[in-house]
Amino acid sequence: EGYCSPSGPIESTHCLYETVESLNHQLFPALHDLVTYPFFRHYKVDLFKECPFWYENGFCMNRNCGVEEANEEDIPEKWRAKALSEINTSAAHDEGVSGCYFKEQDFCYVEDDADQNGQYVDLTLNPERFTGYAGDSAHNVWRAIYEENCFGLSEASLSELSKTSSSSSAANSLGIKGLDKGGLASAVVGAGGISKPSQGAQSSQPGYAFSKLSEGWGTEMVKAPLSGEGEMCEEKKVYYRVISGLHASISIHICADYLDQTTGEWAPNLDCFISRLATHPERLSNVYFNAVLLLRAVARAAPYLRAYDIATAPTLGSGVKAGRESDRLAKDRLDEVLRLADGGEMGKGFDEGDFFTGEDAVILKEQFKTHFRNVSRIMDCVGCDKCRLWGKLQVSGIGTALKILFAVDDKALDPKVNPDLLQRSEVVALFNTLHRISESLAAVEEFRKIYAATQSEE
Ligand code: FAD
Repeated sequence: EGYCSPSGPIESTHCLYETVESLNHQLFPALHDLVTYPFFRHYKVDLFKECPFWYENGFCMNRNCGVEEANEEDIPEKWRAKALSEINTSAAHDEGVSGCYFKEQDFCYVEDDADQNGQYVDLTLNPERFTGYAGDSAHNVWRAIYEENCFGLSEASLSELSKTSSSSSAANSLGIKGLDKGGLASAVVGAGGISKPSQGAQSSQPGYAFSKLSEGWGTEMVKAPLSGEGEMCEEKKVYYRVISGLHASISIHICADYLDQTTGEWAPNLDCFISRLATHPERLSNVYFNAVLLLRAVARAAPYLRAYDIATAPTLGSGVKAGRESDRLAKDRLDEVLRLADGGEMGKGFDEGDFFTGEDAVILKEQFKTHFRNVSRIMDCVGCDKCRLWGKLQVSGIGTALKILFAVDDKALDPKVNPDLLQRSEVVALFNTLHRISESLAAVEEFRKIYAATQSEE
């Protein structure tokens, strides 16, 4: 107790670390159950799209990188029927790079049930954990994602990555093939320099984060002026925090479910957690930030989500009764998650009205959208199928949250007015992403206990 325990307000929110942690004690078990129901565990995704930005040949041959597909007969007929009826509606969408489609309000390229090239994956058979995917290929992707933040931000990662990769510029070294307007290429041109992380937030002392975390929380965020630009505006911070929080959450899953290659056993790896997370409190802080942002999106869309058809029971045959019972339990769980997200202090934890309000709000929002869409395409460059699966799903989940918070008004969220606002895949991605983040927060608590045990042994 008391180790690695952040306290006080989470920057850019109206929420305390303590509030999120306390809520998570109820939220995590509820989400952990919710994502096992058929509606939430089946995700259709195209894992074989070509990387549109550079030639990617770093494919991970490790068997832990592989993805197990779902059984075709487990996929409800109505999803396939819906998919077929939607195939011809893409004319209403804009076309992005590589023939991908998106709606004007989308913050990312949405994988959906209508995608003829996609495969259904049962997420519960493919846990996000250590795969062994690392090195230049992984670093190129992370670097490209941070450089996509062409608002001019970076952090130690950029300089570190340039050391480990073949060249210092993702765009130059990787032979960019094409990007959305204002994307990676302009990010490189318009980056405005690389800023340094603030001093004092990091330490090479492993025990640092376990004793003094609250002092450094959120300070890896770049506060240094960028080419005279001054402190970053709130929207740019949000962008960076979301990416860094996603990166940190993935790292937590790697450390929490780590393969000891000598014994062949899976177990939490404290050293991994210390070097990747605990000595970088700002990264952990960004995981909490993502939790608050996703919870607010779920709360805002609660009436819409409550009305969503998550039933999967067959209408004929021997499975009808069991299917209906499973649907009822899934609905109860969903209602519980919505209640938790919408209730108590969390309801106001993040105020979307604080953002995109200035003179340049419209341009900023468009930029934000464009960059986030590019991030979703960069995911096609991840050279490990399982990492790509979870990378795509989580970018889509965050993109869905951003759409709910920043692209639609209350009227558009009315399920009667706008029943098709969210596709099934967006709902699935939203709740599974919240589950990933929530599981990360639970893992942080576990690591705290593991660390405390090592201290008492000494
Ligand atoms: P990396 O995590 O690759 O980080 C590179 C650099 O970025 C660091 O040196 C640091 O400077 C900076 N950095 C690190 N974390 C943050 C942060 N939170 N915020 C800001 N800057 C940061 N591997 C698996 O084993 N399982 C997976 O499921 C998996 N999924 C992945 C999904 C994606 C989309 C990608 C791109 C990679 C994935 N990987 C996965 C690989 C994994 O993320 C690491 O790249 C790999 O483990 C090598 O880690 P690393 O220590 O070299 O640092």
